[in-house]
Amino acid sequence: MIKACYLMRSDGSRPPIIPGDAAGEVPGEKCPYCGVALLVQGDGRRIAADDHAYEADAYCASCRGFCGVIRAEVSTLFGLTEDRAVLYGRLRVY
Ligand SMILES: [Zn+2]
Repeated sequence: MIKACYLMRSDGSRPPIIPGDAAGEVPGEKCPYCGVALLVQGDGRRIAADDHAYEADAYCASCRGFCGVIRAEVSTLFGLTEDRAVLYGRLRVY
C-alpha cells in the first residue's frame, strides 16, 4: 500500500504525484523541457536505500526529459527487502 508518492527534484523541491495508470500527474508543475502540464513515467524501479520506499527515475511522458526521481513510500512490516523475501518465499541464507 502506498502511503505517499512524490517527485524528488535536484532543486530540493518535493511536489506530490497523483499516481495514474500510465503516468503520474504532478499538479501545478510544468515540464522544464517542453512546458506541458507535468506527467511523469517511472523507469528502473528499485528499492530505496532506506528500504521503505520504491524509487524510479522520472521522465516527462511527453518529451521523455529527465525530471527527477519518483519516490513511493509504502507500508512495510520489516522493510521492503525483507517483506519481499517473506511474501515470495525467497530462500534465505544466514
Ligand atoms: Zn516534457
